[in-house]
Amino acid sequence: MNILQPWNVFFLVGFVVYSWIRHVFIERTRGEKKAVSRFDGLEKILLTAMVPPILLLPVLYLFTPLLAFADYRLPMFVPWIGAATMVASLWLFWRSHTDLGQNWSVSIELRENHELVTQGVYRYVRHPMYASIWLWGVAQGMLLQNWFAGWSVLPAFAAMYLLRTPREEQLMCELFGEEYREYMRRTGRLCPRIRIKRAD
Ligand code: SAH
Repeated sequence: MNILQPWNVFFLVGFVVYSWIRHVFIERTRGEKKAVSRFDGLEKILLTAMVPPILLLPVLYLFTPLLAFADYRLPMFVPWIGAATMVASLWLFWRSHTDLGQNWSVSIELRENHELVTQGVYRYVRHPMYASIWLWGVAQGMLLQNWFAGWSVLPAFAAMYLLRTPREEQLMCELFGEEYREYMRRTGRLCPRIRIKRAD
């Protein structure tokens, strides 16, 4: 079974940490009432489409021989980079949950008394949590040496990111108006905006 290989064990440990972080923040925000929810049909499809790549395919790959036809070998150094990427992803995932605090939700939603967070990692980028999921997708591909279990997070999350982010930003603009638009001007979506200071 694939689970006996060290990089696969590493992936599994990372996955447990990832799920634990989510669980902690679902519990912490459980009591927070929602003022606006855009948890519609599209959101349900996008979230459901993330379950096979994040959970189902890795489980099939790790614990059954069903996906063995799509196994392949990567050079030795690649999983090392994957492991470092996973650690970075988990750190950013945890930090962005912590910084959002009670304002976090799994879908596009606003809480009662929702506050605009522009501190911590949100000081530099508007979507650090999505950045952490991109990193996770790359890490999974570098650790699980199977075309389906390894690389399927990236297309599924690309769809979610491209369709959700503009809607989320629009909702934030509706609530916070000029404050959010100004925040957009000084931050990047996934990477910090580089400012070149003029000499004059
Ligand atoms: N897109 C962000 C947050 C994902 S969680 C990220 O990638 O880090 C999704 C919820 O977070 C959204 O419904 C929105 O209400 C909330 N949110 C997003 N950015 C926020 C911010 N800067 N301050 C407060 N809430 C925010």
